[in-house]
Amino acid sequence: MIGDGDVVGVPWCDNCKYYCTFAPVKIVRTSILPFRGFSAVNLLGVLFVHHGVYISNELMNHERIHTAQQREMLFVFFYLAYFMEWLVRLPMRGNAYRNISFEREAYANQRNLDYLHSRPHYAWRRYMRRASYKR
Ligand SMILES: [Zn+2]
Repeated sequence: MIGDGDVVGVPWCDNCKYYCTFAPVKIVRTSILPFRGFSAVNLLGVLFVHHGVYISNELMNHERIHTAQQREMLFVFFYLAYFMEWLVRLPMRGNAYRNISFEREAYANQRNLDYLHSRPHYAWRRYMRRASYKR
């Protein structure tokens, strides 16, 4: 379990019963990132977390799903698509951030710690047309 402190490494995996090397996230504790209202941000597979924020298995899994998405999109296309979808969803009903298909996939599967072992490539595409979050 990853608690407080400057931890660098990959998360525990319930499937591997070891530190999983699939879609790892390096943890960097900083007071600069992420911006207000967010608990963590994943930039190029590096997870920036504020000091004192508890990193649960769920949060790790959420961020590792993002790493998997980033890898299959060769990183640059992930950020382009992420930003463009956010722009498109801004004037729409509901929370634009939560309705980005990358976020929908991550939120929908973060509790399933084995998800990354069975996840099909480009699984986020299936979330583009799902019912939106109204908050
Ligand atoms: Zn997310």
